[in-house]
Amino acid sequence: MPELEAVIGLEIHVQLATRTKMFCGCALSFGDEPNVHTCPICLAHPGVLPVPNEEAIAYALKIGLALDCEIAPRSIFHRKNYFYPDNPKAYQISQYDIPICGPGKLGDIRITRAHLEEDAAKTIHAGSTGRIHGSTASLVDFNRGGTPLVEIVTEPDLRGAAEAAEWARLLRETVRQLDVSNVNMEEGSLRIDANVSVRPAGSTELGTKTELKNMNSFRFVQRGIEAELERQRGIVDAGGTVEQETLHFDPTSGDLTSLRSKEEAHDYRYFPEPDLVAIVATEAMIAAARASLPELPAARQARYEGEGLDEAQARLLAADPGQAEYFEAVLAASTAPEPRVVANWVTGELTAALRGAEIDEDYGSPTVAPAALAELIGATAAKTISHGSGRQVLAILVETGEGDVAAIVEREGLAQMGGDDGELARIVAAAIEGDPAAAEQIRNGNGKAIGAIVGVVMRETKGRADGGEVNRLIREQLGL
Ligand code: ADP
Ligand code: MG
Ligand code: ZN
Repeated sequence: MPELEAVIGLEIHVQLATRTKMFCGCALSFGDEPNVHTCPICLAHPGVLPVPNEEAIAYALKIGLALDCEIAPRSIFHRKNYFYPDNPKAYQISQYDIPICGPGKLGDIRITRAHLEEDAAKTIHAGSTGRIHGSTASLVDFNRGGTPLVEIVTEPDLRGAAEAAEWARLLRETVRQLDVSNVNMEEGSLRIDANVSVRPAGSTELGTKTELKNMNSFRFVQRGIEAELERQRGIVDAGGTVEQETLHFDPTSGDLTSLRSKEEAHDYRYFPEPDLVAIVATEAMIAAARASLPELPAARQARYEGEGLDEAQARLLAADPGQAEYFEAVLAASTAPEPRVVANWVTGELTAALRGAEIDEDYGSPTVAPAALAELIGATAAKTISHGSGRQVLAILVETGEGDVAAIVEREGLAQMGGDDGELARIVAAAIEGDPAAAEQIRNGNGKAIGAIVGVVMRETKGRADGGEVNRLIREQLGL
């Protein structure tokens, strides 16, 4: 039996953080009293007319440009008809065959489209606490109804659960840096549906897919897809066929339950929204959106990798623009060190020191001035101080906000030992004398035994000696 390959496409709903809803003047809110942000338009009273939110259109353009999408010069709204209590009009205003953002790309994954639509109201299954006339009740909060959404759809280009979750993280980071959404998955401002199928490895045809709805964390996205792939592989291995359906993944039990067999587009009776004119994205609107884009994570990561950072480090920095800019400031103030060394200090040692001091770093007004960290990194690179001493100096910089590295080194007596005064050599000699057994083992070729003597030297010098130099001296004195 050939191996089964996973095929995954994602649909991501992003709630836009505009001031008002998509087609009316109601304020957006999260966590307010239910049903206080409503009006005749979002409650679908007869005779009302929608007015598109200009800010939402501008945000959609930013998202489209960030995803390298073609922007439609003229796109239209459609009515998507369905009957459910969260939808008082009995249709959702969405986009269908001419979305505002067409084909694009983020990383290696192709974007099919990104379109504008309105969110449904929120249904709350109140169970017995919401009992009405003796039966269990579902309640509806219309505050959310009409919130602007951009739905981003990918091509089925993802090949595994971990890859899908990782890419979704990149997408969220990208949208977050556009400043158009809170992208908070727990609050539902970013929601992920995963379309999943399997096929024989090497095949170019698509298998029948199922859709996992509304997973509200990246971990659940990964686990949900893993569970569904396992289920589908089990069916195919047993000679069965996968049925097209929509599933819910319960992260607590790990169970997948069927919500419905999948509807077709014609079930929604899409037709052009007669109450709205086309969205015309002018050159000026597109230029304004483009001008407002920051350097995005994928581009920043690629630039850092080009400067010699490894992939994980580049990704870490690119995901935090504040820290990335701080890193660049330290690098700019540095005289010799390599970007990789500076990145290690910023993402590793500095982060650890801040955590140790229980400081939430604000890279806009940092506790440790970039120039001070640059000087410190320079001193360790030049071996004026050991790495361990550098760490001690950093702790002082973090805790006191002092900026004069040279003064701290002087005051704390942290200057690196070694050089010509012979003091380090004397300490090494004493350590060898104090542990003849280890010395014998080293002479007999047991390389690991050297650690015991190095440890003693480091303790004696309070970490001020350079490890490489200590090793060299021990071997020299043992005549190796
Ligand atoms: P539908 O008409 O069911 O909504 P679409 O063709 O619009 O299906 O695709 C919706 C999403 O499902 C897209 O992200 C797409 O990449 C993905 N998709 C489509 N076919 C498959 C498949 N066979 N396996 C996995 N994902 C798929
Ligand atoms: Mg679809
Ligand atoms: Zn309203």
